[in-house]
Amino acid sequence: MSGDRALAHVQALVDFGPRPPGSEAIEKSRNYITQQLRQFGWRVERQPFEEETPRGRKRFVNLIATFGGRTAPEFLLCSHYDTKTFDNGAFVGANDGGSSTGLLLELARVFAKEPRLAAKLELVFFDGEEAYERFTDTDGLYGSRYFARQLSGSGGAKRFRGGIVLDMIGDRSLDVTLPSDSPQELAAGIFASADALKLRSFFTYFDGAITDDHTPLNAAGVTTIDLIDFHYDAWHTLDDTMDKLSPESLRVVGAVVSHFLVTKALK
Ligand SMILES: [Zn+2]
Repeated sequence: MSGDRALAHVQALVDFGPRPPGSEAIEKSRNYITQQLRQFGWRVERQPFEEETPRGRKRFVNLIATFGGRTAPEFLLCSHYDTKTFDNGAFVGANDGGSSTGLLLELARVFAKEPRLAAKLELVFFDGEEAYERFTDTDGLYGSRYFARQLSGSGGAKRFRGGIVLDMIGDRSLDVTLPSDSPQELAAGIFASADALKLRSFFTYFDGAITDDHTPLNAAGVTTIDLIDFHYDAWHTLDDTMDKLSPESLRVVGAVVSHFLVTKALK
């Protein structure tokens, strides 16, 4: 698990510029993510859909990656890769949209070396996590709401033992703030892995619940935890740039997630 490799993916995404849904830059991001995953041996499917938004009807595309195929995946590992639409200025979302996507690609590389474990994972890259105005039942979380709906419709939610959503985990000053209503068993598992790796001090609880891509998944019956660092001063500002990130933070979160998956979730 290399923090530098994860950070290089974030840089590649940020270099495409702002990546709001429907933009040319987000299509370049999709091609980049797809090409990297295929190179590591993953199969990638596009899940396109359209949805009404406060800015009119928009087109979104989730990316779903699986490995092997003899066994159905049992655990979801997710990140959103869109960036928030800004009317004034270039918001590149180094931490918000970039960091978790870069880490998910690095985890894809690492798990590809363990095909038996990789086959149990489904990697999902959500489009449209960000709200155009603010998070409501009809604004924001477009990708995860659509994915969860499809899952419920096909009765597929039962297939998954659980899931992890990664979001904003690259801040130099890392404080992974688990939502206060995190599923108990998953939170305990994450804390135990952090403890085992002597990285416990980076993980704490947020003072309240957080609305993110884990919300629709939990509502659909897939018990999912959100690993997010919500103590981030540059959140939703034009200052969310590469200089705020460190490869060490990406490595810390990647190491804890890997340890948790190997010793518990995929066991
Ligand atoms: Zn955001």
